Amino acid sequence: MSSVVIIGAGHAGVQAAVSLREMGFEGKIQLIADESHLPYQKPPLSKGYLNGKQTADNLLFRNAHYYEDQKIDLILGEKAVALDTRSQTVSAASGRVFSYDRLILATGAENRRLPQDIAHHALYLRNMTDVQRLRAALETAKSVAVVGGGFIGLEVAAAAVEAGKQVTVLEVQDRLMARVLPAVLSEVFLKRHREMGVNVRLGATVSAEILADYEAVVVGIGVIPNQELAMEAGIECQNGMVVNEFQQTSESNVYAIGDCANHYNRFAGKRCRLESVQNAVDQAKIAAAHICGKAQAYDSVPWFWTNQYDLKLQMAGINTDYDSYVFRGDLSMDKFSVFYFKGADLVAVDSLNRPADHLAARKLLQAGVTLGKDQIVDINFKLTAVLT
Ligand code: FAD
Repeated sequence: MSSVVIIGAGHAGVQAAVSLREMGFEGKIQLIADESHLPYQKPPLSKGYLNGKQTADNLLFRNAHYYEDQKIDLILGEKAVALDTRSQTVSAASGRVFSYDRLILATGAENRRLPQDIAHHALYLRNMTDVQRLRAALETAKSVAVVGGGFIGLEVAAAAVEAGKQVTVLEVQDRLMARVLPAVLSEVFLKRHREMGVNVRLGATVSAEILADYEAVVVGIGVIPNQELAMEAGIECQNGMVVNEFQQTSESNVYAIGDCANHYNRFAGKRCRLESVQNAVDQAKIAAAHICGKAQAYDSVPWFWTNQYDLKLQMAGINTDYDSYVFRGDLSMDKFSVFYFKGADLVAVDSLNRPADHLAARKLLQAGVTLGKDQIVDINFKLTAVLT
């Protein structure tokens, strides 16, 4: 019987522990979390939890009994600070040392920050501590600047304007969510934010003078992987820990999963890091399966979502490398999907308020089945019919 140490108790780390037990692993599992809360889901921090519709208890993956019942040793408030792959030990800030046969790094990512001299009073949003600070600031602040018109910044802007704040979004690009969405979708979101009263400034640069005008400043300008522990231990890192299809790093008994793992993704056609619940959960299952001797290569369709007001956008596949697209649904009602093609191949689908299209898209992309453009535009055509 062997022992597994998991560092980080976010989506990936918790799923790895759960999957190990579900797959029959009977050895010791130690799940080390630097946060002191029971492990919780992150997406609601900028959505339902921020706007008060969900409580902290709603966010928990499992209650405390689950970890006890499953003999998962959940060690809260303990930060791993050093890894020695020769002695197979992890040292924590408290001085405690953990020995492992297999180690899973599920350390996630941390926020990219603005220089202190520009935004010394900036708030960020990555974890429960951040969101509590943000909620407290929003209680008193009347004017809020959101730096960054990406998913998290815009979700925060939506929650803040709905709470009656004067909100300005400062986005350096000439459209919203430009890295991940086509212009047509950026426009829909821009229009809705403006209708709701958000002052969206595109092509905007920020300075200390500009930000000084706001009572609260929230920054959402992307994340960087937590890879120091691995790097200092000599594990290969390049924008995250480099892993193979079984999530193994350059040290074969050390795995990396979730936001911190740089993996080859066939849907992207290259190595990348994905920052999504789907990726964290699916990679955790792959690492657990490998440890349990049930090896299976990672090959999941990437998917993601964002909710802003009544706009629910669900994305399947990677929409960065395409040469044409077609619409399905009603653009005037903000209820449509964009199907992206490279040549004749379907590569990605973004669905706005069309959840059934999104579910069908995930199946189609996983199966590598393409559709005729005439079939897509015909809303009476059942997309999954081509799968049978
Ligand atoms: P994390 O969930 O970040 O967990 C990593 C954990 O490891 C953290 O708790 C961290 O504190 C801990 N840790 C790091 N280093 C150490 C150490 N040395 N010792 C001990 N512990 C350590 N994804 C979606 O798919 N849809 C969404 O709508 C969505 N919305 C989001 C909204 C917000 C506000 C945020 C922050 C993220 C959102 N995401 C969303 C992204 C998603 O939450 C992440 O992709 C997912 O949490 C990644 O899981 P992970 O386990 O890899 O990392």
